[in-house]
Amino acid sequence: MRITKYAAVIAAAGALVLAGCASGSPNSEGEEDTGPAPSEEVSFDEGTTMAKLNEAGKITIGTKFDQPLFGLDGPNGPEGFDVEIGKLIAANLGLSEDQIEWKEAVSANREPFIENGEVDIVVATYTINDERKQVIDFAGPYYVAGQDLLVLQGNPDGIEGIEDVEGKKVCSVTGSTSADNLTAAGVEVLATDTYSNCLEPLRSGEVVAVSTDNVILAGLADQNQGEFEVIENPFTEEPYGIGLKKGDDEFRDFINDVLEQSFEDGEWAAAWDRTAGKVLSTPEPPTVDRY
Ligand code: GLU
Repeated sequence: MRITKYAAVIAAAGALVLAGCASGSPNSEGEEDTGPAPSEEVSFDEGTTMAKLNEAGKITIGTKFDQPLFGLDGPNGPEGFDVEIGKLIAANLGLSEDQIEWKEAVSANREPFIENGEVDIVVATYTINDERKQVIDFAGPYYVAGQDLLVLQGNPDGIEGIEDVEGKKVCSVTGSTSADNLTAAGVEVLATDTYSNCLEPLRSGEVVAVSTDNVILAGLADQNQGEFEVIENPFTEEPYGIGLKKGDDEFRDFINDVLEQSFEDGEWAAAWDRTAGKVLSTPEPPTVDRY
């Protein structure tokens, strides 16, 4: 069932790149490819980022390495829904998985990574907002999360929502919308660099909760079975976008086209099912914002 679905996904991605693209064929090690093979037949207008990446035969993608379900550096390399979105974009540039260089992004270095050209795109539970749009651009959204709270299993402090942690200490991450939203709500924030680094302060009782997007918290709870639970009372909307260099409208349009195509042909839903969908129910695809 899973294999059949995946084969359909590969075929769909191949069809988007070009008709007759050889997809799903064994690679040089004789292993089954997990994405469409790169093709010299893909053509892009000269001088565009798409043409440059295709010619270079390489794309560098920033993603999270410690967020199960979305971006986790596993034994076979990064995995998760964000990683699948990155692979989808690469495939449509005519690049195979082994032509992707994955770089660990943390919340605070995403804009600098893009601005300095350290990565070509960021796919990293990255909320689209006006402040960030001052320095970078976003394609998407490809998913809409909501900020929530993670507490110890059994919820010993009886926390039911954001109002219950006002004036209390909650762990979150520097450079995230989550930390800003907590501060704005009058919550005392213990700021770390990654959400996985918030788990120890929660275990020890230094904080009463960890707060960020519900899907990140669900991944951490799933990874640490029996230790934590998500309150499931989201209090924000976090539309996830793909960060890219400011002003690169052609590249933004290209990625938006790839996303819309994947919403239509079922590839987006299949990517979800293989990753986050193992724990979370399948959402409806959002509407791409062609700003
Ligand atoms: N989506 C939020 C943000 O982009 C929180 C998750 C994160 O830090 O990656 O800031």
